[in-house]
Amino acid sequence: MLFNTAQLVAGLLLAGEATAQLTKPLINPPFGELGPVLQSRLRTPQYTVNKWPWGLIPLRCRAVAEQENYTPYDIEVYDVTYSDCPTKWVLCRHNQSPTSPAQFFDRVGRLPVGFRDYLRHFILLPSRGATHAYTYSDLGDAIILGDGHGSNAQTLYVHEIAHTVDWHHNRASTTQGWLNAYNAASAVSDDYARRNQAENFAQETVIAMYDSVVTPNGIPGVNSGWQQIAPMYQYIKNLLGDKIQRIDSKVCTRNVGIPLWDTTVCMGPAARDSGNCPGVSARDLERTQGGYNETVTENPEALVK
Ligand SMILES: [Zn+2]
Repeated sequence: MLFNTAQLVAGLLLAGEATAQLTKPLINPPFGELGPVLQSRLRTPQYTVNKWPWGLIPLRCRAVAEQENYTPYDIEVYDVTYSDCPTKWVLCRHNQSPTSPAQFFDRVGRLPVGFRDYLRHFILLPSRGATHAYTYSDLGDAIILGDGHGSNAQTLYVHEIAHTVDWHHNRASTTQGWLNAYNAASAVSDDYARRNQAENFAQETVIAMYDSVVTPNGIPGVNSGWQQIAPMYQYIKNLLGDKIQRIDSKVCTRNVGIPLWDTTVCMGPAARDSGNCPGVSARDLERTQGGYNETVTENPEALVK
């Protein structure tokens, strides 16, 4: 096969730019933990839970469990219907996750509903090491392995979904508007944000949501160096508006370009053989993760505290 050399080189350069380390200094003074106050100012709507019988599972949940070397037979699947949305979210939790089901549903529910719209499946697994997380940003599937940094976990839930929000706002972190905001700032919010512009955008989305929700003082109330990063979080506030505000009367749309849920498959042959996969075709029993077109992977170790 012949390649157009000029296009190939341009593609490589673009990829290099997208993953380049950022060079601005860290904000001074550094941030403390934002999670506890952010969580306390967000509100969980009332919700109802319906646990799936053992045997059936969304394809993505099974595929993620398998790729992380956990058996899908240990995954619990829940329909969670929040009072701000008539359509359920389907959430997957390994039965050894350090996050309880109630904590899980609470943290998802506290996400402003216009932001939660960008979630398809959330998947919690245990961790064999430090907490880490990643997101399939085209379809809105977020995965956390471990406790999500405990009391600070709400920021990780926001960070992961921010990748999907980024993707579905014309890949905002790659746009000239965002780069202009970055260039107008004199620092970034933490070391993790320096990895690349996608991580910087996700971290600044946490900051922007905090500034929107923790009224009246917002970020200036917790960091005297706020002006160093203000162009970036103001850009995100303008871009996302009420999607990152707490508005108790707001309801979902579930119409932001991601499907509501993945294909239902069987956990595996043992579930099929015990008769717990009614209606699942042989094809879907054998399906594996494939055909997805985008993956954002990461290993957050130094998220905004
Ligand atoms: Zn990230």
